[in-house]
Amino acid sequence: MTIAALHAARNVPRYTSYPTAPHFDAAIGADFYARWLAELPAASTLSLYIHVPFCTELCLYCGCHTKAVRRREPVERYAGRLVDEIGVIGAVAGRHRVVHLHWGGGTPSILKEAWLERITDKLVSTFDLSALKEHAIELDPRCVTQPLVRALAGIGINRASLGVQDFAPHVQQAIGRIQSYDVVARAAALLRESGIRYLNIDLMYGLPRQTTEDVIRSADLAVSLQPQRLALFGYAHVPWFKKHQRLIDISDLPSASTRVAQMEAAARVFSGHGYQPIGLDHFAKPDDELAVAARTGRLRRNFQGYTADPADALIGIGASAIGQLPQGFVQNEVDITGYSRLVETGHFATAKGIAFTGDDTLRAAIIERLMCDLAVDLERVGGESAAATRFESEIAGLAPLVQDGLVRIDGSRIVVSEAGRPFVRLVAAAFDKYLAASKTPHSAAV
Ligand code: SF4
Repeated sequence: MTIAALHAARNVPRYTSYPTAPHFDAAIGADFYARWLAELPAASTLSLYIHVPFCTELCLYCGCHTKAVRRREPVERYAGRLVDEIGVIGAVAGRHRVVHLHWGGGTPSILKEAWLERITDKLVSTFDLSALKEHAIELDPRCVTQPLVRALAGIGINRASLGVQDFAPHVQQAIGRIQSYDVVARAAALLRESGIRYLNIDLMYGLPRQTTEDVIRSADLAVSLQPQRLALFGYAHVPWFKKHQRLIDISDLPSASTRVAQMEAAARVFSGHGYQPIGLDHFAKPDDELAVAARTGRLRRNFQGYTADPADALIGIGASAIGQLPQGFVQNEVDITGYSRLVETGHFATAKGIAFTGDDTLRAAIIERLMCDLAVDLERVGGESAAATRFESEIAGLAPLVQDGLVRIDGSRIVVSEAGRPFVRLVAAAFDKYLAASKTPHSAAV
């Protein structure tokens, strides 16, 4: 195994939050959430995330909170509960300004036009959406139709992410998701014709039966559709957590060194076409807001990944949705029935969370800068109290990465080299106080 493959095989969190979700505690429930919401200053801006945990069928690689449904009735019932929860939140939080709104899942378009409009109407009557900058939705290209895109444009969607993963038929067969290039190209064309100009395409490496040539070809085809952003995620094989992944034959998965080669090959394709690498796994056209934010130190990382979202608080709506407030994280009930029962009767659906300590906030800031900027100045983030001496053992833990040229320590500055970019999760992990005590298995670093 190469040195890179040895690092790549280590298991660490993705650091879309710190502390990470496995450390949320049931002691932080609805009372905390209600208090934290009520404490938000009136001028605080919000980012809203709406989770729709349904798909028409399950892809074998899926790591999301979702389930397959055939009937309309559970989807419609759930849509009504989303309206209920928006009312519960609005009654306590007040009419804040919303700057970002994101529909994710699952397949949010499964709600269909009428419910997308009804839920948006409820948001408009509850919050101030007049300064909404980005209104985004995750789409399954196979479900994109003319009436849907018309409705999406009608509710103000201005960015859509198309889930692709890989264009090769044998890979699509192995992951249980068949969609031709033409299907994706048609979805992109319909969206653009309707005025939804900003498109993202999500690809994956490390999939079963996927070769490096497949990854390169998929990267080329994705680029030919001219998206503003591309995401390249490493497949996380976590069958102990996502049982349907057991249907993937482990002998079909690429080795750690092939995963590194696949990731590097796709990154070369994107860079060759002028896309700017962003953090760990995103690429954007240089004039895209995400690229501008990355160049100017304003890039953020939250549960949806990288964002230029400047909001003061993230409000999660829907089963399993996570919120981030200045005081801590909260997560809703994952179970749809339990979630529905609570919000239908006018309650918050908070199941667990974590209240930040001062140390959490400092480490979260260090980890966020590392994940976003691939560099952090400990003194700049935390003042003298965060000077290198305080983190002596963390810095000592980076020695193997320093030796391999992936990280440089320069006084109170930690800088990840370009070669170290794919391993930035390992650098972040050195500052994760909870990781050593964690019993939760994580996915491979690359
Ligand atoms: S469409 Fe997306 S959310 Fe649904 S099962 Fe497939 S990968 Fe998961």
